[in-house]
Amino acid sequence: MRISNSLSNRLGWIGLTMAAATLVPVDGFTAEVNVYSARKEALIKPLLDRFTADTGITVNLVTGNASQLHERLVSEGRNSPADLFVTADVGNLYRAKTAGVLATVDSEVLRAAVPAAYRDPDGTWYGLSLRARVIVYALDRVSRESLSTYEALADGEWSDRVLVRSSSNVYNQSLIASLIAAHGEEQTEAWARSLVANMARRPKGGDTDQIRGVAAGEGDVAIANTYYYGRLVASDDPDKRAIADATRIFFPNQDGRGAHVNVSGAGVTAHAPNAAPALRLLEFLASPAGQQMFAELNHEFPVDVSVPASKVVQAWGDFKADTSGLARFGELNGAAIRLADRAGWP
Ligand code: FE
Repeated sequence: MRISNSLSNRLGWIGLTMAAATLVPVDGFTAEVNVYSARKEALIKPLLDRFTADTGITVNLVTGNASQLHERLVSEGRNSPADLFVTADVGNLYRAKTAGVLATVDSEVLRAAVPAAYRDPDGTWYGLSLRARVIVYALDRVSRESLSTYEALADGEWSDRVLVRSSSNVYNQSLIASLIAAHGEEQTEAWARSLVANMARRPKGGDTDQIRGVAAGEGDVAIANTYYYGRLVASDDPDKRAIADATRIFFPNQDGRGAHVNVSGAGVTAHAPNAAPALRLLEFLASPAGQQMFAELNHEFPVDVSVPASKVVQAWGDFKADTSGLARFGELNGAAIRLADRAGWP
C-alpha cells in the first residue's frame, strides 16, 4: 500500500497552522487516528494531546509491549483498526516491515525531517528520536582512559566486570548486528564469547538494573542506552540520582565507526482505516516541535540535529554516531540472535 502525500502537501504546514489556530475541521480527513504504541503512555501521550489541540483530530492510543502489539497487528491483518505503529529499535521496526504490517509512505516532509540513516530506504518506518548504546562506568573504579570500544570489553582486563542484559533484548541484538556489519559473523561470535566470559553475573533485568549494578559494585562497566542514564540524572528520587552520581557514560568507538545509535520510530500501518490523518500525525512527530517533545520526554537525541536536546542530554556533549546503516542492522537481527545463542549469551 502506498499513501499519497498530495493532500498533506496541499495543506502543508501552513494549512496545519491555520487549522490549529481556528480548529476548523479539515476536508478530506477523518478526524480520528488509532495509534498502537510500544512506547509508554507517559512518553507519547503529551505529543498526541498537542497534535489533537493543533488539528482537532482525535487520537485513540493503545499501548503495550512491542512483541504483543506486533502480533496483534499481524493477527488483525486487514481488520486492524490501527493506523500508526510506534515502537523502539530498528529490530522491531524491520520486523514489522517484513511482516507486511507497515505501509510504504511517500512524504517529502518526512524525507526532509529524518536523515536517511534513520529511516527505512523503502519508506515504511521513520526514526523519530535517537538513543546511543553506551558504556556506563563506575566513577571510582574505572578511568575513562581505560575505555575505548565495544570490542575492547571482550579483553581480559574486563574479566568479571561487565554488566549487560539478556541477548533476548532487541537493543543487544541490534548492537550485535552492528558488530556483524563491521567485522563479520566469525569475529563477532568470538567477541560475544569473550564478552560472556567477562560478565560479572548472569544477565538479569533491564538497562537501568545494569547501571544500578555498577553503582552497587556488582560490576564496573555496563552496556546501556543513554536515556536510562538520563532518567537517573533527572530523577526526583535522591537514590536514583546517587546512582547517576556514582557513574558516568562513555561513548565508545569514537576513533572508528562511532557509537551504536538506534531509533524509536513509527510507521503508518498497511491497512490503516485513517491513513491520511495518520500520516499527518507522523509528520507532526517528525516536525521540530514534535521531535523536541518526543526527545525531551525520554532524554533522547532528536533525529533532526537542528532541534535542541534536553539539558541533561546536552551535558554529555557531542559524539560520533555509527551511521553506517541502521536498516542493515534490522536485516541482520536474525543472524545476531543465532550468534548470541551460539556464544552462550543468555
Ligand atoms: Fe528502552
